[in-house]
Amino acid sequence: MPKVESKGLDAIVVGAGFSGLYQLHCLRDRLGLSALVLEAGAGVGGTWYWNRYPGARCDSESHGYCYSFSKELFEGWEWSERYPAQAEILRYLNYVADRLDLRRDIRLDARVSSARYDEPANLWHVTTEDGATFSARYLITAVGCLSTANIPEIPGLASFAGQWVHTGQWPHEGVDFSGKCVGVIGTGSTGIQAIPVIAQTGEHLTVFQRTANYSVPAQNAPLTPDFQRYVRENHTAIRDATRSTGNGQPFAIEDRSVFDVTPEQRQELYEAAWQKGGLQFRATFRDLLMDRAANETASDFIKAKIRQIVKDPATADNLADIDHPYAAKRPPIDTDYFETFNRPNVSLVDVRATPIEAITPSGLRTRDGREYPLDIIVFATGFDAMTGPLLRMNIVGRDGLTLAGAWRGGPRNYLGLQVAGFPNLFTITGPGSPSVLTNMPVAIEQHVEWITDCIAHMRAHDIARIEARPESMDRWVQSVNEAAHATLLPHTPHSWYLGANIPGKPRVFMPYAGGMVRYRDICGEIARKGYEGFALSR
Ligand code: NAP
Repeated sequence: MPKVESKGLDAIVVGAGFSGLYQLHCLRDRLGLSALVLEAGAGVGGTWYWNRYPGARCDSESHGYCYSFSKELFEGWEWSERYPAQAEILRYLNYVADRLDLRRDIRLDARVSSARYDEPANLWHVTTEDGATFSARYLITAVGCLSTANIPEIPGLASFAGQWVHTGQWPHEGVDFSGKCVGVIGTGSTGIQAIPVIAQTGEHLTVFQRTANYSVPAQNAPLTPDFQRYVRENHTAIRDATRSTGNGQPFAIEDRSVFDVTPEQRQELYEAAWQKGGLQFRATFRDLLMDRAANETASDFIKAKIRQIVKDPATADNLADIDHPYAAKRPPIDTDYFETFNRPNVSLVDVRATPIEAITPSGLRTRDGREYPLDIIVFATGFDAMTGPLLRMNIVGRDGLTLAGAWRGGPRNYLGLQVAGFPNLFTITGPGSPSVLTNMPVAIEQHVEWITDCIAHMRAHDIARIEARPESMDRWVQSVNEAAHATLLPHTPHSWYLGANIPGKPRVFMPYAGGMVRYRDICGEIARKGYEGFALSR
């Protein structure tokens, strides 16, 4: 018999990562509501709680990858590296949970298994895997965009006698690679971070690459005391910078075209950006993501770098045989990724030419009949992104409408925030919002603040329900499509932005590519117009 743990809550927030922690703070400490966070993990941190694989670190620079809503919180923390490692970010989120006294309203080890809207009571009833139920007026998902692991269905996995792990579900006790033959499947941002580190301790590392990928050096380094002082003393300037750029980063995209400069100048600019490192490489010119010819100049530059770095010509050919425009898939940044292929204990297998056919008790077999003996298989195979974490909660709205049914043809919502038929359900950084195309904490703060203001408005005006109107969703889905098609982003057949990495998933470009500044303006304008496009009822 399921036990009712809590009635009388104003809000349930699902997830205690960056989004959920801030949402709890806003609802409880700004609006004075009773709110509870349900978190599947045994600790707070979300993405940074789960992704403990070797080499895991953030691709956004530390001073921009944190909350900016509170000067005290910002100034009370000091980052140690240009790109913070997973353990440091997890410590930071624990620091936030403690500073804001959030833990008393977070229930850990509580994975949500279903959520059902009860129209007569105007309540959401939420059940966790252990059978506990909770009810509240508002349900806010803070489940992250990349939290449902994609483990490809390769025949024979159950028969594998060694150890296998997915990077997004990394064992807390770590994995000992020493003396082991290791296989890594996947060369996205995660694989590219993990491969150089695993190569240092593994006896032999075989990298199974399906799609060759671009990568630019992160040029990670400890922060100097001068830079740390600059960060401490410039909270407002840094916050304003991240809020003024389309990608939520503290740096702007240069306002010049690839074709404004001579080929020699272009080469110098790319070289300088390569030396500086990081995602900023993408910001060298304004038209890199808009124009194929412009993009080719960047992709040619990176391919030439790969050929310079990697000594074995066949391996270099394989790594540089990249079939999509630069940054049309999420561009990775790395520490010694291409250099790692010069190590004697590392080899590359092209599984586009010879796909993985089966996992055997002793390793992996490709279609050409070759066997690769392995002790450990690392799946760096990504996630059922954006919709996966929402759909697995079995959300049921009005009249028995399931979210899975509403999104059978792909996600449809208004502003990435609300779905018709699901009153008082808000999805932080849902599909249709800028989210993964931006620096996440910036996108998260905007969503959380918008939701908080919306709930404050509802309470001030005695409004019991808010729900996206179907015609608003139609218009928004069209805006999301138009924004994507103004760029090269949809021109990659195997991108997770399109759901293309998951067999059977509808091919829909999910994030909003119009940029954070435009998106913030649109959301603000809609709120100022009394939540235009939403149905509000007493
Ligand atoms: P991903 O980008 O989806 O890459 C998955 C890799 O696995 C791809 O190379 C994919 O090949 C390969 N793969 C999947 N199924 C396969 C199969 N059956 N056989 C062979 N290869 C297979 O996943 P990810 O690297 O985990 O990154 C996901 C996102 O997480 C990133 O794009 C980024 O947004 C985020 N992330 C951020 C950071 C950071 O900020 N530090 C770090 C890591 C990840 P195909 O390309 O051919 O499908």
